[in-house]
Amino acid sequence: MLEVHCTYRAIIRNHSQVADSLDRHGWSASKLWNVANYHSREVWEETGKIPDHEELKDELKSHPTYKGLHSQSSQRVLEELAEAFNSWYSSDDDRDNPPGYRKENYYDDQGRRVHEEHPRSTVTWKQNGIRHDTKNNRVRLSKGADHKEHPKAWEYILVEYETRPGVTVENLQQVRAVYDNLKERWELHFICKDKIKTPDAPGNETAGIDLGISNFAAVAYSTEEADLYPGNRLKQDGYYFPKEIANCDDSGGNTATRLHHKWSERRTHFFHSLVKHIVERCVEKGVGHINVGDLEGVRDDETGEAKNWGTHGNLDLHGWAFDRFISILEYKATVAGITVVEVSERDTSKTCCVCEKKDESQRVDRGLYVCEDCDAAFNADVNGAENIRLNINKESNSKSSTNLCEDRSTGWLAQPEVYLHDLSSGFQPQEQVVDCKP
Ligand SMILES: [Zn+2]
Repeated sequence: MLEVHCTYRAIIRNHSQVADSLDRHGWSASKLWNVANYHSREVWEETGKIPDHEELKDELKSHPTYKGLHSQSSQRVLEELAEAFNSWYSSDDDRDNPPGYRKENYYDDQGRRVHEEHPRSTVTWKQNGIRHDTKNNRVRLSKGADHKEHPKAWEYILVEYETRPGVTVENLQQVRAVYDNLKERWELHFICKDKIKTPDAPGNETAGIDLGISNFAAVAYSTEEADLYPGNRLKQDGYYFPKEIANCDDSGGNTATRLHHKWSERRTHFFHSLVKHIVERCVEKGVGHINVGDLEGVRDDETGEAKNWGTHGNLDLHGWAFDRFISILEYKATVAGITVVEVSERDTSKTCCVCEKKDESQRVDRGLYVCEDCDAAFNADVNGAENIRLNINKESNSKSSTNLCEDRSTGWLAQPEVYLHDLSSGFQPQEQVVDCKP
């Protein structure tokens, strides 16, 4: 079972009774947005940094506009503003503008502006601001303190709704009131937590993934196939962005901050594409279980020193990036019915995956692992991935598995498929260039 969020739209049955209240809350959301936007720009002018939503909340929670909405609804406005600034920063398009003010101008027939008004912004209620009456299809949405001052005013807006037939609104997490300018009506969006049944595993095959530096990922399959992902785009970005950032006049300035954000967005995009590709390959091959090397092996190499991308293309990739990659992998694999387990990477790079001989002085030469016992040379990262797939550190690992070495072919260990990534076509196999003989 997997938890997901679903959004259901609903029309408002008692629209004429609640429209005024919703209007006032929509205008309050616009005012708060504008105040917070103005404040963000001021901070930005002074410090070169855009405040995040927590900083905005600390600054504005005593501001009168904050009381126009339920406190959680006000918080959501600030989160949306911070998100808008973030996506502007990380946008690829230099012509994009920072988030604007929410104002609507009205003109007379000579084109002169007659007045200005706040538009009706979307208002979001989170759990503390919602009482849901599932029996009667009604929600009570808490008003902002400003809008319940009148002694006879209710504390909440009571909305009667109607969803599409067959939709049951359960496990309600958020309610969003959205104004439809064409219909000139409000509608509700319900965000619900749902559990979906994950599909059966694609098969009984297994895979092992080794995350590393010279290759971002190596995958070994029980079907005697292996894939390598050199992470070419990560490396190109690792050369490009630090240079661009170094060229900025002010390292904490807007341009530099924007470059940092853009770099991180591109990395996230790369991770999503890579995970998608690996999971698709697993489904094709009938893989039901993936072992992925735990991060100890990435953060610290055998000498105990932190691995550093600095000398290899200055790639600013740390433990958190691998954490991020693994969490995306866990999610996308689960959706495909595949389990993911993190296993120890200890000794996986200095143990032969065929005969299990451990060689402390093992030298990896030009990406090759050479075993004296087997008299064979494998791709070093594929060897590591295969050891992770076999989970050689598992305590109950019986020696019987090692006797396979005479039956198994080993050619695939030396000749992985190599996938390079480009932005237009995604991952494409590269012509075989790996020299498999030492
Ligand atoms: Zn061997």
